[in-house]
Amino acid sequence: MDLKSLYREIINEHNLHPAHKHDLEGATADHRGVNPSCGDDIRLQLKIKDGVIEDAAFVGSGCAISQASADMMIDLIVGKSTEEAMTLADGFMRMIQGKADDAEIEALEEAAALQSVSKMPARVKCAELGWRTLGKTLAEGAAEGEGHQPHC
Ligand code: ZN
Repeated sequence: MDLKSLYREIINEHNLHPAHKHDLEGATADHRGVNPSCGDDIRLQLKIKDGVIEDAAFVGSGCAISQASADMMIDLIVGKSTEEAMTLADGFMRMIQGKADDAEIEALEEAAALQSVSKMPARVKCAELGWRTLGKTLAEGAAEGEGHQPHC
């Protein structure tokens, strides 16, 4: 199997059998993310305790790339500190923009399967949706009600 088919397989698997697509009981932060250009609409829920993402889940609907990306993201961020999650989200954004270095891409584990999206401008917003929503959720949790722009 070449790398491209392997990546396609990973994305399909996460889209068809998402491990984290459900409501999260006891969530401490949540945020809705919408990508109007494709119709992707998700709600990300995080359970954060002492600066660590203890659990996370999402609900919603959208295209395969948006759903698989959110599911892979959650695989990656559960158990990480909010700072680590922010760093990973930055790395993901850079990968999608074709700017990430090898170490950043490697840190993304399965989510690296989405790197070819950097060559598909129409799908960039789909792939970014979960990660953008994560950035907003974390920024909001860090600065309650200040209404500032998330850094990404
Ligand atoms: Zn989409």
